[in-house]
Amino acid sequence: MNSKKIKKVVIAGGGTAGWMCAAALSKLLGKNIQVTLVESDDIPTVGVGEATIPTLLVFHQLLGINEAEFMAATNATFKLGIAFENWRDIKKDYIHSFGFLGQDCWAASFQHFWLKGLQKNLVSELGDYIPEHLACREGKFAVLANQDKNYAYHLDAGLYAKFLRNLAEKNGCQRIEGKISKVNLEPNTGNISALSLESKQLIEGDLFIDCTGFRGLLIEQALHTGYDDWSHNLPCDSAIAVQTTTINKPVPYTRSIAHGAGWQWRIPLQNRTGNGLVFCSKYMSDEQAKQLLLDNIEGELLNEPRVIKYRTGTRRKHWNKNCVAVGLSSGFIEPLESTSIHLIQQSIVRLMLLFPSDGISQSAIDEFNQQMKTEVDNIKDFIILHYNLTERKDSDFWRYCRTMPVPESLTKRMQLFKQTAKIIKRHEELFGETSWVQVLMGQGLLPEQYHPIVDLMPDEELKQFLNTVKTGVKRKVEKWPDHLDFIRHYCHSN
Ligand code: FAD
Repeated sequence: MNSKKIKKVVIAGGGTAGWMCAAALSKLLGKNIQVTLVESDDIPTVGVGEATIPTLLVFHQLLGINEAEFMAATNATFKLGIAFENWRDIKKDYIHSFGFLGQDCWAASFQHFWLKGLQKNLVSELGDYIPEHLACREGKFAVLANQDKNYAYHLDAGLYAKFLRNLAEKNGCQRIEGKISKVNLEPNTGNISALSLESKQLIEGDLFIDCTGFRGLLIEQALHTGYDDWSHNLPCDSAIAVQTTTINKPVPYTRSIAHGAGWQWRIPLQNRTGNGLVFCSKYMSDEQAKQLLLDNIEGELLNEPRVIKYRTGTRRKHWNKNCVAVGLSSGFIEPLESTSIHLIQQSIVRLMLLFPSDGISQSAIDEFNQQMKTEVDNIKDFIILHYNLTERKDSDFWRYCRTMPVPESLTKRMQLFKQTAKIIKRHEELFGETSWVQVLMGQGLLPEQYHPIVDLMPDEELKQFLNTVKTGVKRKVEKWPDHLDFIRHYCHSN
């Protein structure tokens, strides 16, 4: 145990990760600690990362953020899921929505009833039994009091960082502009003692949060923590991003459109659309990727297409000595299920829970690292699933993905689902049963059996049950307004 009390926290970097940390720490711990953030206007942020998942609502609640104000400030739209187009095979699309499938039943989850219904010709597509799924297809949205809030946002990353900066500074966070030129280590412990800026200013601290993005200036360049590479399972290593004007109404979901060597995102904001192509450089050059993206966008270009290079994987320890890596400095899985901002939030929440006010202990570091590892590994399996479970054979990229060896934990899960239609959610796992079911079935895996308890229900009762659920979903969504109308009204009247 290092008995040095933590009085001063220094955040290096002011992208989404840096300002999320600054906003949370200054609001929740600001009275007891001094929070300083250093960022350089000369080093741009990654500038993408505009689709989120529902957990962000919890983070906003923690910070006391007014939703309508946040949406107006970041040109945000609502997100109810992701449409996966051409992933299972060309022209075979599905939606992974954030809702819950059917009704709860103590014995077996809804998919078991649906599967028997399928055999008996009693059902329509799975999404008809999930309100958020139907609402995606119909372009509708509502925030209802006393109801599950199974939605997230599409937001402008630059404006979001500004919004959070405003909150953090109001709560006493000090921002220092400058380029970090050196990370100083204490000779005896190897802990970070201070950051030197090019201006010669020295910023001392007790705990350092590395939010410097892919470069990992503190966690890797100074502390040599190490990186586990996942490119054998997540081979995309490049992205090209561009913003365009919006010509159609923003849909309440992200579009993920698979191509020959990767996939394209389309993220609708209130005032523009974010576009990008994630691709694998082994199978596609930057020039080819740029052309493919430009051939597949709508609207006028608002900026020059920008190439981003990365390596999928994770830092071996997210917390090493007196440095916690948050955001891209801690690793990058894949933007496919919009999980990076969620992981930033999880790092912050875990750091809060284990905050070492009275000194850093190895047990707190180990606990933090273990929890992050478990969560990241679970998410990684879910992302690999999309690539591996495909019927596509039309390119070298897809032939590689469908035949690559995947983690045993994922193989077992696919087998269990195939044989029994069951998903057993692991402790603290992010993606729940409905998410797994939608993606597994969406990618073409139809279970061979359903739970035998379903057979206790006579066919006529099953038919009624399935119809009741479907009609309930339809009636619910019928009452929801158009997505864009809802945003306009909500942002201006709350
Ligand atoms: P950055 O944005 O890179 O910020 C780094 C900061 O460090 C900058 O402020 C920079 O000025 C500062 N800095 C660096 N070096 C120095 C220095 N020497 N001195 C001073 N300051 C320095 N996430 C999602 O949740 N949803 C998505 O849809 C999504 N899509 C993505 C798509 C792609 C192609 C990629 C690559 C990522 C995506 N992400 C997504 C991830 C998301 O973009 C990041 O998690 C998020 O933006 C956080 O980045 P960051 O703050 O860690 O790093």
